[in-house]
Amino acid sequence: MAGQERLRDYHRKRDFGRTGEPRGRAAEAGEEPRFVVQIHDASTLHFDFRLQVGDVLRSWSVPKGPSGDPHDKRLAVPTEDHPLEYEEFEGVIPKDEYGGGTVIVWDHGVYEPLSHDRKGRPVDFEESLEHGHARFRLKGSKLHGEYALTRFRGGGKDDGQDAAEEAWLLVKAGGKSRGPATPDPRRARSVSSGRTLAQVASHDGDDGEG
Ligand code: MN
Repeated sequence: MAGQERLRDYHRKRDFGRTGEPRGRAAEAGEEPRFVVQIHDASTLHFDFRLQVGDVLRSWSVPKGPSGDPHDKRLAVPTEDHPLEYEEFEGVIPKDEYGGGTVIVWDHGVYEPLSHDRKGRPVDFEESLEHGHARFRLKGSKLHGEYALTRFRGGGKDDGQDAAEEAWLLVKAGGKSRGPATPDPRRARSVSSGRTLAQVASHDGDDGEG
């Protein structure tokens, strides 16, 4: 599916006259795919985990955030595809708008797709997501190493469920090597501006123009 088509839900939910969130652009050929983890202080505080697939960022809401401990299984609930520029989005979404609240970019970088089939042969990354199990190596400023996303509910061909009813797990993979612990989202700082949620809220939130 083309990027703009995939972004239909994203566009439908937002009033771009009011929110400063981006509308979407096409990927440039030959770039390594990117990932971003944002902290979003919306009606419930959560992390948003996004992986570039083609012209969009496939997205999951991760209530507790990614863990560097391979024993932690973190619930990841799919949300609508986001535009590629969303990787840089940091600021305040107006209170009455969809997802109203403060967003910071906690980490971002590139990732290496590692999905393979049962015989160890590499498979197309998007296809592996369709099948409900994808592996990848993150190369971010904070997150490094292998992670896996695995669907454990929904997504069946015949059950009539849509993406909103799916549930996945985000788990650190690749043996015993531990990644960084999950940060306290209220104290965590943006990888792009060094600011906390509170600092972004007080700076960008007052006049709605910044
Ligand atoms: Mn969110």
